[in-house]
Amino acid sequence: MRTSPVPVRTHHLDAVVVGAGGAGLYAALELKKDLGPDAQVAVLSKLYPSRSHTGAAQGGVCAALGNTEEDHWEWHWFDTVKGGDYLVDQDAAEVMCHDAVETIINLEHLGLPFNRTPEGLIDQRRFGGHTRNYGEGPVRRSCFAADRTGHAILHTLYQQCIKHDVTFYDEFAVLDLAMPNGPGGGVTGVIALELATSEIHSFRARAVLFATGGYGKMFKVTSNAHTLTGDGVAIAYRRGIPLEDMEMYQFHPTGMYKLGFLLSEAVRGEGGVLLNNDGERFMERYAPTMKDLASRDVVSRSIYQEVAAGRGIDGKDYIHLDVRHLGREILDKKLPDVTGFVRTYFKLEPLTDLIPIQPTAHYAMGGIPTDIDGRVLADEHNTVVSGFYAAGECACVSVHGGNRLGTNSLLDILVFGRRAGISMADYLRTAPEPERDVAGEATASAEVGELLRSADGERPAVIREQMQALMFEKCGVYRSEQLLTECRDELAALKQRAQSLLVQDKGCRYNTDLGEALELRYLLECAEACVASALARTESRGAHAREDYPERDDVNWLRHSLAFRDTAGGQPRLAYKPVTVTKFEPKPRVY
Ligand SMILES: Cc1cc2nc3c(=O)[nH]c(=O)nc-3n(C[C@H](O)[C@H](O)[C@H](O)COP(=O)(O)OP(=O)(O)OC[C@H]3O[C@@H](n4cnc5c(N)ncnc54)[C@H](O)[C@@H]3O)c2cc1C
Repeated sequence: MRTSPVPVRTHHLDAVVVGAGGAGLYAALELKKDLGPDAQVAVLSKLYPSRSHTGAAQGGVCAALGNTEEDHWEWHWFDTVKGGDYLVDQDAAEVMCHDAVETIINLEHLGLPFNRTPEGLIDQRRFGGHTRNYGEGPVRRSCFAADRTGHAILHTLYQQCIKHDVTFYDEFAVLDLAMPNGPGGGVTGVIALELATSEIHSFRARAVLFATGGYGKMFKVTSNAHTLTGDGVAIAYRRGIPLEDMEMYQFHPTGMYKLGFLLSEAVRGEGGVLLNNDGERFMERYAPTMKDLASRDVVSRSIYQEVAAGRGIDGKDYIHLDVRHLGREILDKKLPDVTGFVRTYFKLEPLTDLIPIQPTAHYAMGGIPTDIDGRVLADEHNTVVSGFYAAGECACVSVHGGNRLGTNSLLDILVFGRRAGISMADYLRTAPEPERDVAGEATASAEVGELLRSADGERPAVIREQMQALMFEKCGVYRSEQLLTECRDELAALKQRAQSLLVQDKGCRYNTDLGEALELRYLLECAEACVASALARTESRGAHAREDYPERDDVNWLRHSLAFRDTAGGQPRLAYKPVTVTKFEPKPRVY
């Protein structure tokens, strides 16, 4: 057992990238290529890089290549804006959809093994909300490597980083930003916990990128890995940086019933359909043109409505996904992992059985506000925090607005991970020497010391389970003032209880008990910002569906929420900033 304060070891680097998913790796690769072999560029990751959640992405990554049918990047741009229910910053979405084509070709050149058409081109398939000619019907836009696209991306980028001598600090969990003079003074490094030893390290760097992924673990039923606990998002929030559009959390329609594991939208892209208890293909009623390939928010709500109308399977809270008609060849060649999950976890045969599914918490549209070059923004006036960058799911650029389209996230992490790397390299050419954050180091080491010494308090797992059930029930697919008020108050009580946690393992080697205590506190911060923003937004838009305010309200709510943490422990302060509309005027959204 160790007593506080835990000693601190110091490192000096040019740039630190936190997170070894697609966003972090692409940024690190660009940094190293731009700055040359002498630059000290390090990736810190609490997981071994190839375990990052990017590796779990199944269905694909989109770009209007037009390889199998006519397509244009402007159509993709429109679909992204409409899919996000017009809360998308259209200048950012323009960059993403335009750069998508070049990004995919670059990835191919880096060695990514995409599926091919018989002519040898990159094959493409359908995904929800991606349409031809501004909404006429589905288009094939998603490039894929079977249903292991994220795995292929992660390994391709990791290999490239190794080839270019990026330094890796694997299994280092970042605890805090070094910010000796507050957001106005910029970021000068990070403070991290070495998981193998429980030692505290201070990494001084002239620029830091957060690419720490999402926070789906705040919900009970989720497709997200155990490790997606919003660390980077919560750390930024604690340091006075606002969180943008946190109420916008996506529920994916096809999670495995009760387990939450994802069955990719690619299943419906390849022709799978949803059926209710009457065997009816009910999406034809809700979305006459796109049917099962409407956007995810629309399909998830339709499932809830079928269940509420008593048409769930056997009157229960799930419905069926039917792939029986797809045939063995498509299942084996294009969806091998997904069908494997069904066989392994449900002991069902997709060729002959119907698959029980329910919506599962999947993706954070909100997060740390950034501009299109990954620079973190400190307020509603878009003041830049010098030396601090964010990209990937932890960031909000915002290209997904109120609801992300399938396969737009892998695209987002690639396009904006890369752009962040390039702009960091630029910044580093003139960036000042980083100042040490003595107080930050002391606080981080005191928190770890206090948890390691804890003799009583509550077990993190108990509070975590209660938070997950609460968030799923009261801040889920459908919300209301009453549910959200209850959620806010119960969450505040959980947060209070989490101030005194009991870590039973007092050892210093891979102390996962300690890690879970820290992660619970991050999740509670993310949940607090999510609920406060959701309670304030008195309209329904994208994934945020209020039963008491069922209409979208562009007059009052065509704006981004910013939640600032209250340092005194009260509810966050909310501020707002306008949405950038450059081309597509908001219209009613029908699929
Ligand atoms: C099951 C599943 C399937 C999906 N399928 C698709 C798909 O087909 N197409 C699509 O576009 N999107 C898909 N998505 C979404 C997409 O995969 C993710 O949004 C995206 O991969 C996130 O990438 P990232 O680089 O931002 O973060 P991640 O890949 O999640 O990586 C986060 C990194 O941060 C590190 N980290 C976190 N906290 C800390 C800390 N405190 N200290 C140090 N390191 C830390 C982790 O170690 C990890 O390396 C899917 C998501 C899931 C869950």
